[in-house]
Amino acid sequence: MQIDAIIGLAGHKKEDLSVCMGCRICASVCTVNDLGKDPHNADIMVNPQELLVRLFLGEEISADNPLVRYCTSCYRCTDACPWKIRIPEIVRGLRESLEIASPFEKAFKGSVRIWGRVYEPYVFLMSVPFLFKEGYIKHMMKWTGYMSIHLPHKVKGGS
Ligand code: SF4
Ligand code: SF4
Repeated sequence: MQIDAIIGLAGHKKEDLSVCMGCRICASVCTVNDLGKDPHNADIMVNPQELLVRLFLGEEISADNPLVRYCTSCYRCTDACPWKIRIPEIVRGLRESLEIASPFEKAFKGSVRIWGRVYEPYVFLMSVPFLFKEGYIKHMMKWTGYMSIHLPHKVKGGS
């Protein structure tokens, strides 16, 4: 079944999602959902837990799903989840299946290639064309709150 293959790309099995307690901690810490809490940004409210439930029930997830479109792969949800469910990797599996390229992932990889770590201002700059195209740029002020502005320490090859 296609959905099993998508979840499998994250190293999970469909049954693994049955441990989800519905606590919605993932939604409460989600970077994208945070933006949606502002009444002006209600169009981008997302709920990672809802996505898992829909996958568990075998529902088709479309390319229009806001989490598929906007997830930044920040892993805040996984860090906070009591079961460490790797939601961003499941989203990545969905994107592969739906043949959607993520500018955020491209930027993350570029950052790691250059500095050996994620450097948020670089990721942001590389994502600007996408942010403009999606109308996401109106959330820029909030986004800057997630960034720590400092010179990057290169850890690649470091001791
Ligand atoms: S990885 Fe995606 S789903 Fe998880 S907190 Fe970040 S933006 Fe939200
Ligand atoms: S934090 Fe984990 S257990 Fe809680 S709702 Fe989200 S995925 Fe399920």
